[in-house]
Amino acid sequence: MAADLLSSKMESSMHITTKTVGDDRIRRAKENDEDIAVLSTFLPEALDDAKSTRNFDCALGYRCLLGDSRKAPAGTKKMEYKTRQWHEKCFCCVVCKTAIGTKSFIPREQEIYCATCYEEKFATRCVKCNKIITSGGVTYKNEPWHRECFTCTNCNTSLAGQRFTSRDEKPYCADCFGELFAKRCTACVKPITGIGGTRFISFEDRHWHNDCFICASCKTSLVGRGFITDADDIICPECAKQKLM
Ligand SMILES: [Zn+2]
Ligand SMILES: [Zn+2]
Ligand SMILES: [Zn+2]
Ligand SMILES: [Zn+2]
Ligand SMILES: [Zn+2]
Ligand SMILES: [Zn+2]
Repeated sequence: MAADLLSSKMESSMHITTKTVGDDRIRRAKENDEDIAVLSTFLPEALDDAKSTRNFDCALGYRCLLGDSRKAPAGTKKMEYKTRQWHEKCFCCVVCKTAIGTKSFIPREQEIYCATCYEEKFATRCVKCNKIITSGGVTYKNEPWHRECFTCTNCNTSLAGQRFTSRDEKPYCADCFGELFAKRCTACVKPITGIGGTRFISFEDRHWHNDCFICASCKTSLVGRGFITDADDIICPECAKQKLM
């Protein structure tokens, strides 16, 4: 029986960095050399100096919401992120299909997620309540728990930061473990827990706390001395002699 200690570090805590768009934000982001998406407007052909409009090809390809990924109607907007471009309304969350607009998004591999869907899909979930762990989770047997969800199997008190012992892969607080599983003292009937290195005496199939291992008649300690069993009692040799006289 060994006491476990819970690791308070989550091994895989999620770190979300969101990207935002919007004029003001873009200006600041460019100055700081941040990773952002840029929203701009298709110019009428006459005003289009560069080949940007002609070369436009919406990243959704055949799934383009306008039905033609090369369509670039003057006055509508496009979104650029890294090397790819989208129609403004094609730049949407891969899960809920909501247009990102000027909201935050999270790029993952080739996909774009809104913050809500990203969290739903990739966040770490507590093995007990199945809800997302945003901060301060704990790991037990390599599985993530909310601190408040990691409780004693028997009494439900939180075990985060406590000493606990596990049995059959289930955690118990020290008190419950003792009550439920430990050897019991023949004299006082309280559990003999191994936690804290409690010393105890065993004789045949009976056990005693060191302090409880005393002569039934004169109450002196029998630890380290000879003793005689008398039905359910243990007595010292002197008391045994007196009894026989
Ligand atoms: Zn499109
Ligand atoms: Zn979404
Ligand atoms: Zn939980
Ligand atoms: Zn308990
Ligand atoms: Zn005892
Ligand atoms: Zn005695």
